[in-house]
Amino acid sequence: MDTILFLAFTESDGSLAKPALEVLGSAVAMGAPLTVGVIGASIAAASQQVGGCGATRFLSVTGEEFGRSRYSTDAAAAEAIARAAGATLVIAPASSRTNRALPGVAHRLDGAIDTHVTAIADGGSVTRWYYRQRMEAVVNRTARPWFILLESGCHTAWTGEPREASFETVAVSLPPLRTAVTGVRSPQSGEQTIRPDARLLFVAGAGWTKKQADGQPHPREAEELILGFLHKTKASLGGSKSLVDLSGEGEAVLQFMTHLNQIGQTGATPRHPKGLSTCCHGEEPHVVGWRFITERRAVNLDPNCGWARGKADVLYVADAFEVMRKVNALLG
Ligand SMILES: Cc1cc2nc3c(=O)[nH]c(=O)nc-3n(C[C@H](O)[C@H](O)[C@H](O)COP(=O)(O)OP(=O)(O)OC[C@H]3O[C@@H](n4cnc5c(N)ncnc54)[C@H](O)[C@@H]3O)c2cc1C
Repeated sequence: MDTILFLAFTESDGSLAKPALEVLGSAVAMGAPLTVGVIGASIAAASQQVGGCGATRFLSVTGEEFGRSRYSTDAAAAEAIARAAGATLVIAPASSRTNRALPGVAHRLDGAIDTHVTAIADGGSVTRWYYRQRMEAVVNRTARPWFILLESGCHTAWTGEPREASFETVAVSLPPLRTAVTGVRSPQSGEQTIRPDARLLFVAGAGWTKKQADGQPHPREAEELILGFLHKTKASLGGSKSLVDLSGEGEAVLQFMTHLNQIGQTGATPRHPKGLSTCCHGEEPHVVGWRFITERRAVNLDPNCGWARGKADVLYVADAFEVMRKVNALLG
């Protein structure tokens, strides 16, 4: 029978974020002997979160040098915990941090790893995506330890009464550190517009910046309408490639839009129950990013746009400026 190590890094406040708790939920649901391994500058809040999960062992690596993502320290900490736990399955949330560090750790332990996993079945097989989520495969492996990185939004998060876990500290011998983390630089988007948990994805296309019926573009009004809608609904904002490329070139359009908002083949594939596309043509490279949006609607002036060809459940042939003005007014 397999034994499980749930492995996660804490946030800056010492807690485990929701994606980590989703993976813990999946690990607990497997019903196999479970060890919890946590890494971070502080693990105090995480200790309360996982204390009641039923694990037989709690292992930790803590210290300032483990607070920031850096391959050498992350890999050394994860390796030390994996060796101490001796589990056959190591299950961790898929984040930029684990996607980067854990493949090397699997190699050091002579094991195997699968990333982009969306489900772990009772028998231990996993479901994962290939080719930017165009193909789904069920994978079984005999190699152990088998590291499995589970994507967010694929399992319900583990919740339980806060209870202090009794952690054993695992010693780590660090290699000489060549990388100093001096800070994090992220694209300037002005405000947080990407909300993975939102019920609605609102997509803005390049049409918002094009000349309108009066022969003039109206980017300022476009900004007001879009931001107004986002503030009222707390929807998540996506963009077409044409629009985010314009913003990236510093054009005076939609300052809050960055490449992180891009949906599509070369962008993101978010999961929301509903999506509303506006001023976007609905071309295939864009619409493949909508594959997990359950109900799709679009507003476009063009009755022959891509959305009309079976890509949207409802297409409103209308001026998005007028529609969103009215919608915002109705929302109050
Ligand atoms: C290899 C490759 C990868 C790509 N990857 C991606 C990707 O990941 N994501 C992506 O988005 N694209 C991607 N593209 C580009 C994609 O093919 C399209 O060029 C892009 O999505 C077009 O963006 P758009 O629909 O916003 O702009 P446009 O094609 O310019 O369409 C603007 C639309 O706005 C409508 N419009 C204008 N004014 C209004 C109004 N007032 N009311 C309502 N509608 C209005 C117009 O009718 C038009 O349909 C990729 C292309 C290639 C070749």
